[in-house]
Amino acid sequence: MVDKVVKTDDEWRALLTPEQFRVLRRAGTEPPGSGEHVDTEDEGVYACAGCGNELFSSADKFHSGSGWPSFTRPVRPDAVEEERDESLGMVRTEVRCARCDGHLGHVFPDGPPPTGLRYCINSVALVLNEV
Ligand code: FE
Repeated sequence: MVDKVVKTDDEWRALLTPEQFRVLRRAGTEPPGSGEHVDTEDEGVYACAGCGNELFSSADKFHSGSGWPSFTRPVRPDAVEEERDESLGMVRTEVRCARCDGHLGHVFPDGPPPTGLRYCINSVALVLNEV
């Protein structure tokens, strides 16, 4: 199991940039194409910008054309939690960090093999630990 990280909004504001806070703690979305990890191929593990939990591997990253970093799966099944999200008049599956409950993005059933899934993740929620 993952040890949970729980902080107040004030504590998160002290740790995060305003854009990281808006995305991770307020389920915001960065503008498409704006993020530093879109369509990069650097090798490593992407960790949560809030708590450092390892989330996605560059080995599972692909070019989706969406404007957001995209992955076929999390680095471990229990790295993320997935929840039904009915905001904005759509039914989507939200992806959150299992450790700090930070909003990461959404997962859609239109990805490539081997999973057929597309984890569509905000760059600003990720820090790449290069190998
Ligand atoms: Fe986290």
